[in-house]
Amino acid sequence: MSSREIIIEPDPILRKKSENLEKVDTNLQKLMDDMLSTMYGAPGIGLAAVQIGILKRVIVIDVSKEDEKKNPIFLINPKITYKSKKTSVYEEGCLSLPGHFAEIERPAECHVDFIDYFGKNKKIQAGGILSTCIQHEIDHLNGILFIDYLSKLKKDMIIKKLVKRKKELSKIVL
Ligand code: ZN
Repeated sequence: MSSREIIIEPDPILRKKSENLEKVDTNLQKLMDDMLSTMYGAPGIGLAAVQIGILKRVIVIDVSKEDEKKNPIFLINPKITYKSKKTSVYEEGCLSLPGHFAEIERPAECHVDFIDYFGKNKKIQAGGILSTCIQHEIDHLNGILFIDYLSKLKKDMIIKKLVKRKKELSKIVL
């Protein structure tokens, strides 16, 4: 497992739509291992392949708490088949938007069809933080970021700060 560099907004690749995968092979499993190690290292609770520059429909999630056993979930070609009318609000962050958080309202529950790490068809019925996390990550596969749900003013302010951050980082000379 090796960690990869996480792409930070603004970057045009984060706005591209990811493609479905045809099969699960060792290359894909290697990618998923790298994604997991990148996510744990960040640290974060979810990561989509596009965030490390790969436009494929694969996400990794682990919402287990610090004192719990790790419980990674790999979702290949995830498809939401049901969203509840009932909504919930969580404060969301994103590894591609470091330092920024906002309360986002989403369907409280969702059902998802996906292919797992071993190529098996699976279904998951998610609620709570897992439901929010899955929806956030599937948004990434469609080029959507959580700031897209905010007012234009708030969104522009966050992007401005991220642009400034990128400029400052590029100034560092060693
Ligand atoms: Zn994210």
